[in-house]
Amino acid sequence: MLVTAGPTRERIDPVRYLSNDSSGTMGFAIAEAAKAAGHDVVLVAGPVDLATPKGVRRVNVESAREMLVAVREAFEACDALFMAAAVCDFRPARRFRGKWRKKDDRQGRASLELVPNPDILASVTRRKGDRLVVGFALETGDGLRRAMNKLEKKRMDYVVLNGPSALNAARTSVTIIGRDGSQRRLTDRTKRAVAKALVGLRSPDADR
Ligand code: C5P
Repeated sequence: MLVTAGPTRERIDPVRYLSNDSSGTMGFAIAEAAKAAGHDVVLVAGPVDLATPKGVRRVNVESAREMLVAVREAFEACDALFMAAAVCDFRPARRFRGKWRKKDDRQGRASLELVPNPDILASVTRRKGDRLVVGFALETGDGLRRAMNKLEKKRMDYVVLNGPSALNAARTSVTIIGRDGSQRRLTDRTKRAVAKALVGLRSPDADR
């Protein structure tokens, strides 16, 4: 099983970057639960401060583009992908070789040009085969429709819908939406409990 976790970090200059609040807890819990269920697990992790679950092979990456390379490489041999990483949508168009200095500002303002990062999930699921693919959608407000759009667009089997309160928290509430229209709500659970439920998922058409 291939699991991604944590944020990505997009460098502005040697000492600054763009990132987000993801702690990696959910992805690491999935990796741990998958290992406990007897699977071989590769964990592609962004920069997080978490110990590697015992017996899990960890590949550390920093940027979205590095994560894409690592995921592409491991996807080939995996039976299931859990894409829990909070990938930065954008990165700076250029990386300053030296520190970005105040003198580079114009009239007290500075702007940073951003370019879109590749969509890792959408990229690898072009060759999904019969792998199980589970993605996440962190939405504010009622995100059901948006999560379902992502499920379809990125060719997932399930999308795990959660809210911003899930970031950096020990407990979470999620709705697991299946490609077949199924919905399962897990309220105020530990991430470990959610991870166990996710690892137990089977492809929506496994019985057909
Ligand atoms: O950011 P978004 O809500 O579109 O994320 C939905 C899913 O797509 C998540 O599982 C996330 O890990 C994945 N994703 C990705 N590459 C990106 C952005 C998001 O694989 N550049």
